[in-house]
Amino acid sequence: AKESGRNRIVFYNEPMNEDIAKRMYIEKNLWLALVNNEFELYYQPQLDLETDCITGFEALIRWNNSELGMISPDRFISIAEDTHLIIPIGMWVLKTACSFLYKLHQLGYQELNIAVNISMLQLLQEDFVTMVMDTITDAGINAKHLELEITESILMESYETIAGKLKLLRARGINIALDDFGKGYSSLNYLKLLPITTLKIDKGFIDTITDSDKNKSFADLIVNLGKSLNLSVIAEGVETSEQKDYLVKHKCNKMQGYLFSKPLPEYEVVQKMSEKWNK
Ligand code: C2E
Ligand code: CA
Ligand code: CA
Ligand code: CA
Repeated sequence: AKESGRNRIVFYNEPMNEDIAKRMYIEKNLWLALVNNEFELYYQPQLDLETDCITGFEALIRWNNSELGMISPDRFISIAEDTHLIIPIGMWVLKTACSFLYKLHQLGYQELNIAVNISMLQLLQEDFVTMVMDTITDAGINAKHLELEITESILMESYETIAGKLKLLRARGINIALDDFGKGYSSLNYLKLLPITTLKIDKGFIDTITDSDKNKSFADLIVNLGKSLNLSVIAEGVETSEQKDYLVKHKCNKMQGYLFSKPLPEYEVVQKMSEKWNK
């Protein structure tokens, strides 16, 4: 604290204190949030760039809290991981997402897929593969309509165990996407050794796609890499039509981003599907 003007005390570190207070609140209330049903899943459409049709949705969690309002996953997922609460939360996400997909199939949109983000801690659970298979059976959906999104950071630890589980899941028909591709220390070895079906180009490469030749060539490189390995390539964080045009021209398979739609709650997805998206 520092004295300013007359006897007023100004706390220069006030925002930081607020951050710590929020973090403590989140740590204390995360379990209650699950018990009290305060989590919500939003769904962001994924678009086929060749046909311009929706192929599915990525499920993204939010915490709708009475005191703090809508809390973004960036604020609580890492805390959920530290406290291992990500296991029951992740299970809730998977169940909810699969039930929603079943509902969409019942409404007549039978080709739609759902993508769900998975944390390393979940994958390391002994019964993870059984849990996933039971969940899709209970929900009434086919494995081919589910995609699990993992990040490269997941792969750095316990590689053997994780590779084994991914192979089992893939053998049962589940799709595996490598999220934020190109952002971290991408190892081409992962692509060779793991049963990956989809590459998600990190938003960072999409943001700068229309900037310079050098940035362009990175996006091209990833698209071509995916193609040559027979993978589906999806660009995330597409915000402008220039970016989309570029991706179409360079034969990227799919896109996801604010240009087409933000993540939306269930009822809005259903509404938009029947009103304007269903072509
Ligand atoms: P992610 O998996 O990389 O998800 C993409 C993020 O980018 C989402 O943020 C999405 O809302 C945002 N996004 C999509 N299109 C655009 C765009 O055009 N522009 C911009 N600026 N942003 C866009 P969100 O929903 O806040 O999620 C943040 C991260 O939290 C996710 O990053 C993911 O790592 C994690 N997360 C979200 N839901 C879950 C979950 O159910 N389980 C786990 N383990 N992690 C989750
Ligand atoms: Ca993701
Ligand atoms: Ca991502
Ligand atoms: Ca991310």
